[in-house]
Amino acid sequence: MNNRFNQLIQYNLSGLGCWLTVIFVALFLGSVGLGWVVNGFLLLLVFLLLLPILIIGGVQWWLKRNLIQDNCPVCNYEFTGFKNTEFNCPNCSEPLEVISGGFSRVTPPGTIDVNAVEVTAVSLEEKTDSSAS
Ligand SMILES: [Zn+2]
Repeated sequence: MNNRFNQLIQYNLSGLGCWLTVIFVALFLGSVGLGWVVNGFLLLLVFLLLLPILIIGGVQWWLKRNLIQDNCPVCNYEFTGFKNTEFNCPNCSEPLEVISGGFSRVTPPGTIDVNAVEVTAVSLEEKTDSSAS
């Protein structure tokens, strides 16, 4: 009964115990003369903590500069697109690009997209060559 209670306390304090272990290890290394290890570890920790903030900040800054929100010129559907890229409207799949802060069609108005089908023509010479050999 008593043993179980102790286990429960240990389980609840495991998070705190982890940090206490880290601090004790840091103190031990510092006392032994490996303070530079602790400093390096702390620098790494600070770096790892700052890195996501820097990345998120950078990404947000980049998105603010490159994301454009506008309406589709064909179907008037509002969405966001990237600058300097060609993309398709998610509603009508019209190919669009960003020109002077707004969406515009890549193909000029009135253009009808036609899928070209390549027809393979077999010449008479090729036919006679294959039959001769
Ligand atoms: Zn559209």
